[in-house]
Amino acid sequence: MRTEMLLGGRFVAGEGGEEPIYNPARGEVIQSLADASEAQVDEAVRAAEGAFARWAATTPAERSTLLLKIADGIEADAEEFARLESLNCGKPLARVIADEIPAIVDCFRFFAGAARCMTGVAAGEYLAGHTSMIRRDPVGVVGSIAPWNYPLMMLAWKVAPAIAAGNTIVLKPSEQTPLTALRFAELAAGILPEGVFNLVLGRGETVGAALISHPLVRMVSLTGDISTGRKVMEAAARTIKRTHLELGGKAPVIVFDDADLDEVVTGLRTFGYYNAGQDCTAACRVYAGPKIYDKLVADLASAASSIKFGAPEGEDVEVGPLISERQRGRVASFVERARALDHIEVVTGGRPGEGSGFFYEPTVIAGARQGDEIVQREVFGPVVSVTRFSDADEAVNWANDSEYGLASSVWTRDIGKAMRTAARLQYGCTWINTHFMLVNEMPHGGMKSSGYGKDMSMFSLDDYTVARHVMVKL
Ligand code: NAD
Repeated sequence: MRTEMLLGGRFVAGEGGEEPIYNPARGEVIQSLADASEAQVDEAVRAAEGAFARWAATTPAERSTLLLKIADGIEADAEEFARLESLNCGKPLARVIADEIPAIVDCFRFFAGAARCMTGVAAGEYLAGHTSMIRRDPVGVVGSIAPWNYPLMMLAWKVAPAIAAGNTIVLKPSEQTPLTALRFAELAAGILPEGVFNLVLGRGETVGAALISHPLVRMVSLTGDISTGRKVMEAAARTIKRTHLELGGKAPVIVFDDADLDEVVTGLRTFGYYNAGQDCTAACRVYAGPKIYDKLVADLASAASSIKFGAPEGEDVEVGPLISERQRGRVASFVERARALDHIEVVTGGRPGEGSGFFYEPTVIAGARQGDEIVQREVFGPVVSVTRFSDADEAVNWANDSEYGLASSVWTRDIGKAMRTAARLQYGCTWINTHFMLVNEMPHGGMKSSGYGKDMSMFSLDDYTVARHVMVKL
């Protein structure tokens, strides 16, 4: 596999500092890769700018054909992409193959179709003797910055709508997880015209900062931390760039007394710990009704302790390691601070796993209160807290009492209660009697400090295009 960045049509090694790339399941360095220099970021942006006019002038059908080729290419090399993702992130290989790769392929196929189906308001004579029409045109060069939890999926969510809409792109993956992006660059270089997709590697504070402040970048799309989102907005303010922000989450899970407990526990066992809880929609903040609380805590503790976590190659492994020693330390410190509170009980887990990898046990924390740090802050690890509520108003108020606003769920057999509750939740998504499920036809994105960019769906194409008015004097 090539390990160079893609600047226009050129594969080139970085000229900046070296970055160690880890295998988190073993805690070992796989290889080192050099960051881009500032001049190389500039070269990538200029290549994207140079390719823009011609790419923007292609027909939706032409762009669609190339997006379908990308989808086919990923599907054909699914095993290789999955192995790289598993190696670099510690994800269970079987899960990447069964869950992530099909969703990624489908994302490119969805936007291949969506590019040809954009609709708009009717053209008409709104001023006598003049015909007005709306165009939706691409924004220009998009600087895209991805996180480490789903490297190839986040790439797909950013690249597919951006290029489907006629933009060109410079992507910076997380400095921790560049391997599938490098493999994607190799594939894209054989399919897309030179300069449409460009890849730069490196750290956020240097390479990312150079990208988001480049004057030729017209839009910045970031999936990452709230603090990084703030930096993107500050940098964007200087040149009035469009921004598309997908930031953190702390998903509330409201479980009413009449919920199907087995379904809830099975759901939490999966949706609370998938990807070792390193998921912005993870079902991590449970509010349980007064009657169901005790049994839920007991059953969830037993279910979480049965999760098979370990090396990603094992066929039946459900949960892998955390991404880094630093992330594991962060998760552990959240649990330790919670454990120190008298009212909290760590009912299962709460310790690092064995071996040299960055493992942490699936953990359930009971007795958590609304003001506790473990309820308020995103842990981004395999840790689920459970809090008892007394009535529906309290549950909704606590669920909304958060700076985050990405995802939420409601569990009850009463569909009326579910719908009334869903309507009051301030979250970009509310699931009823499930959690975590995404489809490319529906938008994914937040409210409040979780950001406002919509990924997937036609809403994403809206974000990556500008509505323009053209008026003709008759
Ligand atoms: P992060 O913000 O530290 O890094 C994300 C990306 O931003 C990386 O590529 C990083 O290099 C870059 N970056 C960091 N500082 C920068 C700067 N000053 N200028 C430009 N770029 C900079 O986040 P992370 O630790 O990689 O990912 C975890 C976070 O991402 C969590 O908060 C999680 O909830 C969030 N996330 C959100 C979604 C969503 O859809 N809303 C999806 C996945 C992850």
